[in-house]
Amino acid sequence: MAIDNELLEILACPLCKQEVKLVPLSEAKRTAVRDKYRDKFRGEEPVVEQGLQCVKCHRVYPIVSDIPVMLVEEAFDEA
Ligand SMILES: [Zn+2]
Repeated sequence: MAIDNELLEILACPLCKQEVKLVPLSEAKRTAVRDKYRDKFRGEEPVVEQGLQCVKCHRVYPIVSDIPVMLVEEAFDEA
């Protein structure tokens, strides 16, 4: 896992400005995110295993090939 603690500490929910924590994504979410991002990765299969969950609103932001996607429109209501 390449998301280290230092990076995790500076990341925040864009809505609440609260801290986020690493959570595993369900198989269904992993598949959905992979399908969505495959085109943007020019044929390279995106790696999707975990997300970052806001401690306040509980939205989950996906991590795609070690890149945290901290966008409200890309967030899930649950992991
Ligand atoms: Zn939040």
